[in-house]
Amino acid sequence: MWDFSTEPEFQAKLDWADAFVRSEVEPLDHVLGDPYDKSDARAMRLIAPLKEQVRAQRLWACHLTPEHGGQGYGQVKLALLNEILGRSRWAPSVFGCQAPDSGNAEILAKYGTAEQKARYLQPLLDGEISSCYSMTEPLAGADPTLFTTRAVLDGDHWVINGEKWFSSNARYASFLLVMAVTDDGPDRHRTMSMFIVPADTPGVEIIRDAGVGTEGADHSSHAYLRYRDVRVPADHLLGARGAAFEIAQTRLGGGRIHHGMRTIAQVRRAFDLMLERAASRTTRHGRLADLQATQEKIADSWIDIEQFRLLLLRTAWLIDKHDDYRAVRKDIAAVKVAMPRVFHDVVQRAMQLHGALGISNEMPFSAMMVEAQVMAVADGPTEVHKWTLAKSLLRDVVPGDPKFGSGHLPTLRDAAREHLAARLEAAAADL
Ligand SMILES: Cc1cc2nc3c(=O)[nH]c(=O)nc-3n(C[C@H](O)[C@H](O)[C@H](O)COP(=O)(O)OP(=O)(O)OC[C@H]3O[C@@H](n4cnc5c(N)ncnc54)[C@H](O)[C@@H]3O)c2cc1C
Repeated sequence: MWDFSTEPEFQAKLDWADAFVRSEVEPLDHVLGDPYDKSDARAMRLIAPLKEQVRAQRLWACHLTPEHGGQGYGQVKLALLNEILGRSRWAPSVFGCQAPDSGNAEILAKYGTAEQKARYLQPLLDGEISSCYSMTEPLAGADPTLFTTRAVLDGDHWVINGEKWFSSNARYASFLLVMAVTDDGPDRHRTMSMFIVPADTPGVEIIRDAGVGTEGADHSSHAYLRYRDVRVPADHLLGARGAAFEIAQTRLGGGRIHHGMRTIAQVRRAFDLMLERAASRTTRHGRLADLQATQEKIADSWIDIEQFRLLLLRTAWLIDKHDDYRAVRKDIAAVKVAMPRVFHDVVQRAMQLHGALGISNEMPFSAMMVEAQVMAVADGPTEVHKWTLAKSLLRDVVPGDPKFGSGHLPTLRDAAREHLAARLEAAAADL
């Protein structure tokens, strides 16, 4: 059965969220600092009553199942909600589903022990603390088999040594999830493990924080980190020893599709501004909207957004169906590849139609362009996701005749003539 509609009860929730984000949350983006900085008492006080309203609407932590404090609506409904929340920097925190905490919570929920959940997951779900996912290294990102950060068992503690790069929000995090080599062996995918490292553990050092685009030092939050003889108790291993790759795939599968959901919100925002500008600005030939060059930008953008949204919603639906990100890896890879392209193309057209204003720092487009490029690199570069997708599509293909292949028209014609010979003859005799 095919159905593209949203059931009325959930649509009512979406309508509430849309109005609430517009009137109560989006204004916060212009006056508050970083949503991950839980030490900002003024910000925490401002958002506390908003979080209560979200909970009352049963829209808190929608990425999680009810036993983990979420709502269990599934990925399709989460996508519809994230299309609204992605408009605002603060909205995901007000709704308890902000990245990277959302992905970190998902793996703590899936792989954590009861003690780990009580100590790390619960305060994360309650929005009391922030977390960090520390995987990429200065000398290896896209290919995790090259990671060198090592954890060695010493009595009842693991001792971690190495460097990590672009560990987002480490400066605000209460704990870090660190991927480290624990074993040797031919299959590098089984040699690494995941650790929960409290941020105040001696030996955890932020060398510096990098920002994206033109972000100044105050807003830079992607840490270059050193782990020097960092000792964590043996029970701070997350999941099984050697299971870090499996955990990372779960973590990043969710992260990628959730980024896609929020990207739709950003792209629509750029598109709406494009429409408004086209209808408002005039040249001596009339409105920008009346020029074919503008109409082409608008038509192309709408098609790009709708195609991307359908691909994403179908992928969300597949995740709900299989209940396993890994089973939908190729579809998530496709979303990941399409996301930065659509983001970039639509924002670039909107920026162009706004002229100098579009390029200025008085409009959101420059930041959006950087964000589009972030989506082409973060959680794995586009090239690697194309590789994943193509490998999956090619896996079960049966090789054909290497000379002319199965689409060769003369060969098909000969085969058809042979197949239909008797019937063609009979039909001719009846004439
Ligand atoms: C804003 C932002 C936030 C991030 N947050 C985190 C975080 O919280 N935690 C974390 O651990 N990491 C984080 N990252 C890091 C991110 O996951 C890595 O940047 C990404 O995996 C790529 O690794 P790299 O930067 O080392 O690039 P490299 O691995 O050096 O790759 C560089 C380029 O080489 C090309 N390339 C690489 N491999 C291939 C291939 N197989 N085929 C073809 N071309 C290839 C691609 O063009 C690629 O962009 C973040 C990155 C960004 C931009």
